[in-house]
Amino acid sequence: MPHDDFPAGSVWLVGAGPGDPDLLTRKAARLIATADVVFHDALVGPGVLDLIPDGIDRISVGKRSGRHSKDQGTIDRLIVAAALAGKRVVRLKGGDPAIFGRTAEELAACTAAGITVRICPGVTAASAAAASAGATLTLRGCARRLTLVTAHAKAGEPLDLDWATLAAPDTTLAVYMGRAAAQTVMQQLIAAGRSADTPVLVVVNASLPTERIIRGRLSSLAFLVEAISAHDPAMLIVGEAVRATLSAEAPADADRAVVAC
Ligand code: SAH
Repeated sequence: MPHDDFPAGSVWLVGAGPGDPDLLTRKAARLIATADVVFHDALVGPGVLDLIPDGIDRISVGKRSGRHSKDQGTIDRLIVAAALAGKRVVRLKGGDPAIFGRTAEELAACTAAGITVRICPGVTAASAAAASAGATLTLRGCARRLTLVTAHAKAGEPLDLDWATLAAPDTTLAVYMGRAAAQTVMQQLIAAGRSADTPVLVVVNASLPTERIIRGRLSSLAFLVEAISAHDPAMLIVGEAVRATLSAEAPADADRAVVAC
């Protein structure tokens, strides 16, 4: 059955997932195949970009920490201009567009210009990182909350988070953009009462061939991220829920951990 959800002059904000093209939704793949122009950011995996048909305009508006190739206002204007020119516009974003994706700005810009805009969800990095490590993000009776938090602060400003809430022992923290602030996250969580022994998982380039999985304790978080390049996306996951993956070779230890919660 043909779809009628992508008329000329409309915009889809599409989640590209964490990098592996197999983690793209079928809907995202269809929208990419139908677009007249694709604007994408730097985190979109190369295998996903390969799905853009030949001859379709693909425009990198890549934003990476500290290296903004285009500011948000420019991106908004480019998308709006393309849609007003009658194009089917896909704006491809890493992970899920609704999670730390500057999607609100793009929605507002399109709506203000009278353009139809919709969102296609994607697999967010926290889910991909946990899956790669064979971990869960919640754990019955133990990790009842999952908090997605960004540790990105504006240049020159301190990281202003509600550490007391984040330090609650039944919370799993999925920290986006957390590499540079790892030491602050470690120190502030421990100062707010989170156990220094809390299991920590760091997943770099989740779902990509270059993926790395690093396991440790909160007390070693700053050390764990030391060797990670600023160019590689990294998810930090903190909480009892990831204890079961602390030692992949020792499931007996994991069993005890679950009982201990
Ligand atoms: N909208 C995206 C998040 C954008 S913020 C999503 O839903 O996943 C960018 C941050 O996401 C990176 O700094 C990193 O912390 C995380 N991230 C994105 N892709 C990742 C990947 N493949 N592996 C690990 N972390 C990733």
